[in-house]
Amino acid sequence: MEKPAGAGGKPVRTSYLVFGSPRIEEPEIQEVVDTIRSGWIGTGPKVKVFEKQFRDFIGCRHACAVNSCTAALHLSMLASGVGVGDEVITTPMTFPATSNAVIHTGATPVFADVDPRTMNIDPDEIEKKITSRTRAIIPVHFAGRPCEMERIMQIADSRDLLVIEDCAHSIESRIDGQATGTFGQLGCFSFYVTKNVITGEGGMVTTGSDELAETVKVMALHGMTKDAWHRFSDQGYKHYQVVEAGFKYNMTDIQASFGIHQLPRVEQYHQRRSQIWRRYDNAFQNLACRTPAPERPENVHAFHLYTLLLDLDRLTIGRDEFLDALDREHIGVGVHYLPVHLHPYYRKRMGYGPGDFPHAEDIGKRTVSLPLSAKLSDQDVDDVIQAVSKILSWYLR
Ligand SMILES: *Cc1c(COP(=O)(O)O)cnc(C)c1O
Repeated sequence: MEKPAGAGGKPVRTSYLVFGSPRIEEPEIQEVVDTIRSGWIGTGPKVKVFEKQFRDFIGCRHACAVNSCTAALHLSMLASGVGVGDEVITTPMTFPATSNAVIHTGATPVFADVDPRTMNIDPDEIEKKITSRTRAIIPVHFAGRPCEMERIMQIADSRDLLVIEDCAHSIESRIDGQATGTFGQLGCFSFYVTKNVITGEGGMVTTGSDELAETVKVMALHGMTKDAWHRFSDQGYKHYQVVEAGFKYNMTDIQASFGIHQLPRVEQYHQRRSQIWRRYDNAFQNLACRTPAPERPENVHAFHLYTLLLDLDRLTIGRDEFLDALDREHIGVGVHYLPVHLHPYYRKRMGYGPGDFPHAEDIGKRTVSLPLSAKLSDQDVDDVIQAVSKILSWYLR
């Protein structure tokens, strides 16, 4: 049996494989340079082009580009009228930006446990958490697996709640052909460096409502009624009017320069990640771990995160030692996620603690995310498989 690097053996590779490193190609590099040379480095025509492409790709009425998914979530909360005294139900199996956005409005996030198989919010648990103060639900399509939107929309519609979908992982996800982000009133997407389509930092709000789109646009730029492009275009000077105390959440043309070349490659990158996914699935079947559950054939999984669940009972090491062991093999890893309710702020402010959401906590203790970027070469994938197999075999109880 081969010895892991952490036990004195030789690492599977010499160079470090960075987790979540994005694939960036020549056209977006040229586009960024072109934008800089044009002098129009703020919000301008390239953002408009990217928004149009995104609308077409998702199949939604409005797409408003912003500077992060966190901003998209905050604006969606504000546009939904969520505020002090309200409750918003979401999953603890997410990045804290989801629930922080609720807190920024003065409302309270209320967590509902996940389905242990899909790792997505459990509709039955949502129903248990609804009170007279509940205003909205934020499902997160975890790792790119679509949530049970039909049931979630039924629950919401029957009680007049709004649904804001966190689509940070799910740009390619479809349910019977319909894109995630178009089931609820609002959808929030991320183009952060590790996501499936990147703009460096960036996000998008999608909605079918003219009214919500208008509020999002106004609040994304100081609460002004006309954006800078209109003000300084050659159609004559236009005064702006501030109608709300808005924020500074606009996307720039430098960011959009990445997006307008990345988005047309979204299917190609998705294909590549699905190949890597299948190779991982096959390689890890007989090891002390559980691979992600298969998705219903009529749905599209976005394959954003490949999360293994370690069978800790069958191993002599814990999850964190496994992470260290992979690091010693020069393989970068991630953890998605430590459940949000166990972070110190949430414990202190809301009194949450261990035992509150058993399924999320079990995942949080056992989960490991392996590299899945479309940038990975076949050799990189071989290295990950070799390192994981070596470690799980060596430390088998
Ligand atoms: C990345 C992420 C966010 C935040 O996205 P940013 O664009 O970095 O603000 C929100 N929710 C989830 C589930 C994420 O993974």
